[in-house]
Amino acid sequence: MYSFTANTKAKFELVNITDQINRLVAESKIKSGYALVFIPHTTAGIICNEDEARLKNDILQVIKTLKEKSWNFGGFAHDADEGNAAAHIVAALSGNSRGFIVRDGQLELGTWQSIMLLEMDGPRSRKVWIKIIRDS
Ligand code: ZN
Repeated sequence: MYSFTANTKAKFELVNITDQINRLVAESKIKSGYALVFIPHTTAGIICNEDEARLKNDILQVIKTLKEKSWNFGGFAHDADEGNAAAHIVAALSGNSRGFIVRDGQLELGTWQSIMLLEMDGPRSRKVWIKIIRDS
């Protein structure tokens, strides 16, 4: 298993980690297989989408709105403890792992796809674990 740490800088942030994962795929010398990207956190997610500044801002704006909206059920119960219920909820929906095809020694992604760590309770030090499996 491979791992690295991403140090996020803001409360809400999208960090492109595609290059780091591609470097680990190259280091593995596996030409064809599967790469699982997993984060051991409950207030961050892994998404695969377009790294375009305005779109990233739109995604983060939706999450901030979820946090700040005045809910008619009186708000999130978990906010009484840590104030980060929205981060947990979006992390649960986005998932904390994604699987990718490895082909010709690198990630096989669509033209506009990047792998991004979705930080929702930063700044924090986030672990990223990667398991790369060779085709049998
Ligand atoms: Zn919490």
